[in-house]
Amino acid sequence: MTMTRRGALKVLGAAAGAAAVTTAEARTPKPSGPDDLGLLFDATRCVGCRACSIACRDANGLAPDVAMIGGAPYDAPADLNGSTLSVIRQWSTESETGYLKAQCMHCADPACSSVCMMGALHKGKRGVVQYDVDRCVGCRNCQIACPFNVPKFQWASASPKIIKCELCRHRWDQGKGPACAEVCPRGAVVSGSRPELLAEAKRRLAAKPAAYQGGIYGETQGGGTACLYLSPVGFAPFGLPALGNEPAPALVETVQHAIYQGAFAPMVLFGTFAIVAWKNRHAVTAAEENDS
Ligand code: SF4
Ligand code: SF4
Ligand code: SF4
Repeated sequence: MTMTRRGALKVLGAAAGAAAVTTAEARTPKPSGPDDLGLLFDATRCVGCRACSIACRDANGLAPDVAMIGGAPYDAPADLNGSTLSVIRQWSTESETGYLKAQCMHCADPACSSVCMMGALHKGKRGVVQYDVDRCVGCRNCQIACPFNVPKFQWASASPKIIKCELCRHRWDQGKGPACAEVCPRGAVVSGSRPELLAEAKRRLAAKPAAYQGGIYGETQGGGTACLYLSPVGFAPFGLPALGNEPAPALVETVQHAIYQGAFAPMVLFGTFAIVAWKNRHAVTAAEENDS
């Protein structure tokens, strides 16, 4: 009996589906740890002064992103970008307006690291989702996978890398924490362990229940995040995605594993690409060092 093209596609589709189901069932979501570091942002307290964004830039040695506003230069990025790890966005409803601080959410089970075949993005100490430029091949899968649109690629650089908030981990050995939380004059952004932040968010909700709507974003959404949000208007006006409780990697890895199951050739191709990209990166870095 010969098989038609449609028949063959059906069989392939069923096999891929079965593989996907098997993988989805096998995957265990990764929970947050009791010592995971995070941030709590309370939109009822933020006045949009942007001290947090400026402190973030200073602490991470990033150049200002200057735009001319009313004829004067301001460091006012519209969003996260290749030189901006933290940004204050404005939101509004029919009756209210306010501000939202955006940065990496430090997901308990991050999609960005799930799709990073080189391990350049990975969980480090205290649950921080950190980046290792020496492992990065610039594939930018992390940008596609992140449900919060956080990782940014430095297109303008001769030796580009991905950038995103790493909770100021380079300051920890100086006894310092996240710079943004240190300078906020309103207590709108505070840092601490995730259990401490959850307790503080619940305390604020209980003390002023009429001031908040929508509970605590990040407590369960997307499998939980270490950066948590409180809002006076719910979370739709913030532009935060309406995620279920399942971590994003469950879907991403299901599709990825179904596609690559038993596929040795793409791995070899990817490995070759990785070596070439790594050599190119170090050639550019060496050239820059020779020029300086
Ligand atoms: S420093 Fe505090 S009040 Fe000012 S913009 Fe940042 S979060 Fe809002
Ligand atoms: S917010 Fe995006 S970049 Fe940050 S940990 Fe989660 S998936 Fe990764
Ligand atoms: S924790 Fe550090 S890197 Fe992250 S947003 Fe705050 S200041 Fe920026």
